[in-house]
Amino acid sequence: MRIVRSAAELPREGELGLVPTMGAFHEGHLALFRAARDENQLVVASLFVNPAQFGEGEDLERYPRDEKRDAAFAEDAGVDVLYVPAAEEIYPAGFETWVEVERLGSILEGEHRPGHFRGVTTVCLKLFNLVRPRRAYFGQKDAQQVAVVRRMVRDLAVPVEIRVVPTVRDQDGLALSSRNAYLSTEEREQALALPRALAAHDRNLLNGLEVDYFEEADFEPRVLAAAVRVGNTRLIDNVIVEGET
Ligand code: AMP
Repeated sequence: MRIVRSAAELPREGELGLVPTMGAFHEGHLALFRAARDENQLVVASLFVNPAQFGEGEDLERYPRDEKRDAAFAEDAGVDVLYVPAAEEIYPAGFETWVEVERLGSILEGEHRPGHFRGVTTVCLKLFNLVRPRRAYFGQKDAQQVAVVRRMVRDLAVPVEIRVVPTVRDQDGLALSSRNAYLSTEEREQALALPRALAAHDRNLLNGLEVDYFEEADFEPRVLAAAVRVGNTRLIDNVIVEGET
């Protein structure tokens, strides 16, 4: 696996699959890498903790970063190129162009994290333009992100195919997330209420947790989505609502 820090070093031959990430790899990321491995000649994973998708007072500074560990995991999962751009390549001096998916990007997560999806869509379009992948891979764990990126790709006729990989969970049902690392043992136990409430479609199971939303959303497929706070950690998850798509 090659680690490249500028787009000029990216491969220009062959069909590319891109997996955009913010690092702190877990089995969820590895599932995306493997899906990309199965369908493309070359797999590029990008590793960029995108400041534009974090709000004020969020966890940008404490977000887990360990490039060496991530590089080893990515190589094992069959990634050919790990693209770790410098911030100036993504946001050159004087940067002032943003992509905004208006309605889809302003409900649910967008309502609780204003500007979040503007940061996501802008960095995704930038990465698509720099890497020029045939396919890009996203996790169903972030169902609204999938919906918003797909809408951008359709609306702006971006020449990339969006592929979605099912949510990977721990044995106890908690969806894997880089943010799970923030949880104490006791908080992790409390966090299990989230997958349980979603599976049972029962908001009452979240009693005692601070709930940002617990709502069905008309994405494709339709999901029941929720965001909760456990201590200082904000967690999101969703389940597909069967038979109603
Ligand atoms: P992140 O590094 O958190 O931005 O995530 C990078 C990609 O991995 C996104 O497309 C996420 O949706 C996906 N992802 C994160 N957690 C999971 C999971 N538990 N299962 C499947 N995909 C995931």
